[in-house]
Amino acid sequence: MHAKRMMVACLVLIFLGGFMHAQSKLTEDQIMARAKKVHAEAISIDTHVDIPENWQQDPGTLTTNKCDLVKMKNGGLKGVFMAVYEGQPRTPDHGLTPEGYQRVHAAAMAKFEAVHKLAEQMHPELCALATTPDQVEQIARTGKRVVMIGVENGYPIGEDLGNVKKFYDLGARYITLSHSGHNQICDSSSDTTPPLHNGLSPFGKKVVAEMNRLGIMVDVSHIAAKSFWDVIAASKAPIIASHSGCMTVAKADRNLDDDQIKALAKNGGVIQIVALASYLKNDPPERTEAVRKLRELSPLYEMAKEGIDLKKVEWAKE
Ligand SMILES: [Zn+2]
Repeated sequence: MHAKRMMVACLVLIFLGGFMHAQSKLTEDQIMARAKKVHAEAISIDTHVDIPENWQQDPGTLTTNKCDLVKMKNGGLKGVFMAVYEGQPRTPDHGLTPEGYQRVHAAAMAKFEAVHKLAEQMHPELCALATTPDQVEQIARTGKRVVMIGVENGYPIGEDLGNVKKFYDLGARYITLSHSGHNQICDSSSDTTPPLHNGLSPFGKKVVAEMNRLGIMVDVSHIAAKSFWDVIAASKAPIIASHSGCMTVAKADRNLDDDQIKALAKNGGVIQIVALASYLKNDPPERTEAVRKLRELSPLYEMAKEGIDLKKVEWAKE
């Protein structure tokens, strides 16, 4: 289920929002014309697109996914960071065991392979992999889509610092330190169990230093506020939030508050806004309640939340 989740984090949206406000005396048509010009000229990048291990639908064709190479071209999106995402079990040990690390590392490798397969075997005529800003510009100039790799959740690093270099060599240029669970690197903003490290762990500090050394961006989306402040203190390079929202606009555990956003800007970093409704606006209380009741009715929801792949579930025969 998760692999099909496609999230759009689009810096252009923030930019255009401010732009439109400042140009409010222009007509709607004039604003749109200027916005389209900016969009056409900029190297627009979606910094977070989830990928499947197997390309069930050919991304070189028009698919039912939110993002494919055809939709990118039609919409003028020049580049994407494809997210090598791996979740964690919601067990008391958070999956932070040798077996857990081994399993998740293998799964992450399959996703790295899937991205390389896309760019190098399936559609080298439509897209190419970039690992440097110069390559991004070169590829964009050719009219091909730019594919980059981010790792969402540092869980597959396990306790082996050497894996940071391994991911770098495979093309990863950002790592989101955690996902929705506390991991060996830091505490998460969405885990309701007590913090494991009260921020960044000692190993997490080494991971940040190694990412700084290699040139992998530190992504603070999903990490707890205390982890965020520890990263601000520890990182020697600007950091990013690859897909976050603004707490002042919408109260969500994953969103950043104004102090965090200002600190991120001061550090030279950037926040890329996730275009997912629940992180962009607060639901009216009656909708929140109705959704909660609906979820209670569905065992599938709980299973999906636990990270169980519903396609692999063997259903009891009636
Ligand atoms: Zn995410």
